[in-house]
Amino acid sequence: MKKIYYLFALLLLTGCKESAEIKEDSAPTFGIVIHGGAGTLLRSEMTAEMDAAYRKILTQAIQVGYSILKQGGTSQEAVEKTIHVMEDSPLFNAGKGAVLTADETIELDASFMNGETLDAGAIAGVKHVKNPISAAIAVMEKSPHVMLSGAGADQFAQLHGLEWVPSEYFFTERRINSLKRVKEAELNRQSLIEQSKDPFIVQQRMGTVGCVALDQHGNLAAGTSTGGMTNKKWNRIGDAPIIGAGTYANNATCAISATGWGEFFIRSVVAHDISALMEYKGLGIEQAAYQVIHEKVGALGGDGGIIGIDSKGNIAMEMNTTGMYRAHINSQGELTVKIYKDE
Ligand code: ASP
Repeated sequence: MKKIYYLFALLLLTGCKESAEIKEDSAPTFGIVIHGGAGTLLRSEMTAEMDAAYRKILTQAIQVGYSILKQGGTSQEAVEKTIHVMEDSPLFNAGKGAVLTADETIELDASFMNGETLDAGAIAGVKHVKNPISAAIAVMEKSPHVMLSGAGADQFAQLHGLEWVPSEYFFTERRINSLKRVKEAELNRQSLIEQSKDPFIVQQRMGTVGCVALDQHGNLAAGTSTGGMTNKKWNRIGDAPIIGAGTYANNATCAISATGWGEFFIRSVVAHDISALMEYKGLGIEQAAYQVIHEKVGALGGDGGIIGIDSKGNIAMEMNTTGMYRAHINSQGELTVKIYKDE
């Protein structure tokens, strides 16, 4: 009798274990990755206070998106709300704290793509929308177009009730000083390539923000927001608002947001190229990202990085610079925050 009792207890225990495993396996995978710009990031150039401030805001931002995803919210909402935190922080080159143009004005670019529908929206050269990522989403949802620019884009955003601020809202002391420094370098006939080797200039230039997410419904989304490059002229537009270059999302492959020297990212069609390598060649996200950043962007002489997530929750955080502000949270809630490449 005792034997039968033990056997029964054993069977019960094994059964419980199995059902617990099945439950764990069938839990939907989701995840979120963010960046706050890539460039020449050296420990010697960073104070302990700055290091801590960046890690703190990256953590705050990603937790906003993570809690949306955890509660079953959409990847679109997670990307938008996470980017708002970084756009509102003066530490990044997006929204408040964006870099200045040669005319000492602000011109903001942003884009968003929905991986389920392949709908996309972008704005370039706006001066008044407080949160450019929301303007990009509004273009996607409320206009028949994909990309609006300049005063028309600002007008469109205002028409659709997005928060409007005077340009002065975006200005910070730090960016005013870095514009002076970059202009001095230009007066000294330092070429863009030479400037890109000056850690101070590169660090001032960087700070574009981006977010990619996979929600519990299996949908991917990607968004990128930036002030572009310090001292930009002639209404220059970089890769950030260009779908396929700075931003791309497709449920069949991955969601990507890029940061770096925009001209090279446009020429390498970075975000779509990573997706295409996955779709047509069957590469994994890490391998695809490595190939595009090192063998395409790097080979052309450009620098920067990407963040990405695929439809299974695998991620990539690839760069050919010494650092990229970045963070990730997986389905289990495990948080990773990094700045330097060798962390
Ligand atoms: N990619 C941005 C641009 O070229 C700048 C950056 O990410 O640092 O406008």
